Amino acid sequence: MIEAAPDSNGSTTLVIFGASGDLTRRKLVPALASLHSKGRLPLDLQILGVARSDMDDEQFRAILAEWAALSSRIHYLHGDVTSLQDLEAVKDKLASIEGNGGSHNRLYYLSLAPSLYRSAMSGLGESRMSEDFDGWRRLVVEKPFGTDLTSARELNDVAHSVFREDQVFRIDHYLGKETVQNLLVFRFANAIFEPLWNRNYIDHVQITVSETLKIDERGDYYDQTGVLRDMFQNHLLQLLTLVAMEPPHAFEAEALRNEKVKVLNAIRRIRPDDVGRHAIPGQYRTYRDESGVSPESDTATYAAVRLHVDNWRWQGVPFYLRSGKALRNKSTEIIIQFRSPPHMLFPLADDEDIPANTLAIFVQPDEGFHLEFQTKTPEAELQMRTAELEFHYHEAFSGQAIPDAYERLLLDALNGDASLFTRSDEIEQAWSIVDPIIEGFSLPTAPRPYYYSEGSWGPVEADRFMLTDGRAWLQAGRAGSAMP
Ligand code: NDP
Repeated sequence: MIEAAPDSNGSTTLVIFGASGDLTRRKLVPALASLHSKGRLPLDLQILGVARSDMDDEQFRAILAEWAALSSRIHYLHGDVTSLQDLEAVKDKLASIEGNGGSHNRLYYLSLAPSLYRSAMSGLGESRMSEDFDGWRRLVVEKPFGTDLTSARELNDVAHSVFREDQVFRIDHYLGKETVQNLLVFRFANAIFEPLWNRNYIDHVQITVSETLKIDERGDYYDQTGVLRDMFQNHLLQLLTLVAMEPPHAFEAEALRNEKVKVLNAIRRIRPDDVGRHAIPGQYRTYRDESGVSPESDTATYAAVRLHVDNWRWQGVPFYLRSGKALRNKSTEIIIQFRSPPHMLFPLADDEDIPANTLAIFVQPDEGFHLEFQTKTPEAELQMRTAELEFHYHEAFSGQAIPDAYERLLLDALNGDASLFTRSDEIEQAWSIVDPIIEGFSLPTAPRPYYYSEGSWGPVEADRFMLTDGRAWLQAGRAGSAMP
């Protein structure tokens, strides 16, 4: 349910720095065009693209020709975000777009390489473009926000020297996904699950974000980044917080984010010298042949990590997180494995464990929920079979396309709702969880990344890791059966 942005008295301008880039073309402008077609953009919204490429308004509109409906609102200025002189020109251009009278609201979107965030934010401060005396000013910063705790803190310091925290919207586009938001509705708008949502009834939780793609042309970037920075610090930990958080007192940004931060605080830190007991690094077999990758690279393209949330609700319940490139399926799913019945009345085969209920939450691609339970096989004498209750968005809401995450996030930023954006302390906590694991992986005593074949489910060591805990990775859509 995306509500219309309020019609402001005056002008609203979205300034996209990095407007000739991939994210703008593939995500931002299509999201804006879709919001426009649904009548959800502020009526007076103008879009100003800024990048160094030399183009005029018409040339820039031509690049975005597919989104002709928006074209009259799109403007372009070539400029370097690190140049104060160019930022002055952006200010002049904004003044000409905004005209006189009323309030002039601006949403600055940094769709730039992360190495430019710092100078972009400082430049906005020095050119006094952050001052909000004649309308609001907000800043959207793309991911990744920092490369470790130290750099994230430095970036937060720069951001806070220019903007108030309530003006800063740090993107994790996973939070804009419908199922991720529906997870909150599922947990807190239904009375039947919450009483079970704790250590008394849940055995463990698995969170998987698997990608089929390799690293493409991004070897230089990826080799410095690896899967822990690329996926764990942001998406996986965000999903974990939503599963594990206490009910906030209201569905509003501060209440929600306070509860998420409490979960991150409660996650037991893994000591670097102990990383081998809690995490498995992997690397797909042809990774070192990729261009831009060092032939001796030990960068993990896969990781499986066991985390514990040290609080009353989750004590003793492991959260297994895994993510990797070049895996068999592209999917994001959360599986809640409940405890087995304490005593089994019905006959089991010799090698069979007492079956447990599982709840699978599919975030993508086929968004929905599956709840598994045992049923009696008809006719057969007390034989059981696992059955599933299924809910899938595309079936339940057929004809209603699921909006792209960027639609939700752009609209929320325009509306000033920061619920689905990460706060400075949240980002820093998340880095403080993954930093020691990254450090541990680089120690000479740590396991080198285990190789895995492209199209597999990761290294066999990750399966053994689960086996030693007496568990197995569960398969999407057929929770309860071990991954092949
Ligand atoms: P690109 O490299 O495609 O685009 C970067 C943009 O920045 C270009 O428009 C470039 O244009 C501009 N630029 C570079 N230097 C300057 C400068 N000094 N001043 C002004 N503009 C400059 O990157 P992406 O669009 O892929 O990514 C942008 C951000 O979004 C990154 O932080 C990335 O991590 C994040 N992101 C991207 C996703 C994607 O799907 N692409 C997904 C999730 C996050 P020019 O050379 O003309 O100046």
